[in-house]
Amino acid sequence: MDQTRLNELASALQRKGASKPCDRCGHSQFSIIDETLLTMQPLTGGFVVGGGGVPAVVVACNNCGNIWHHALGALNMIPPELKKDAS
Ligand SMILES: [Zn+2]
Repeated sequence: MDQTRLNELASALQRKGASKPCDRCGHSQFSIIDETLLTMQPLTGGFVVGGGGVPAVVVACNNCGNIWHHALGALNMIPPELKKDAS
């Protein structure tokens, strides 16, 4: 991930107020790890190849490693190449 994207994601998280201390250890320093697609699999069985997913950014606590996912859609940060696939 380039520095510009990293800064944009950090700003988006700040705008949404997603900057409170870690809920596990109380530490206040975090790192944006990467962006990912959280894949969805049906609970009723079977494995879907190429199924839907939720584009997300992964954030980790710098002290204890607690990991969060934030949906890029909620942050208005879905990359244009993924928006084309959704239409
Ligand atoms: Zn922590």
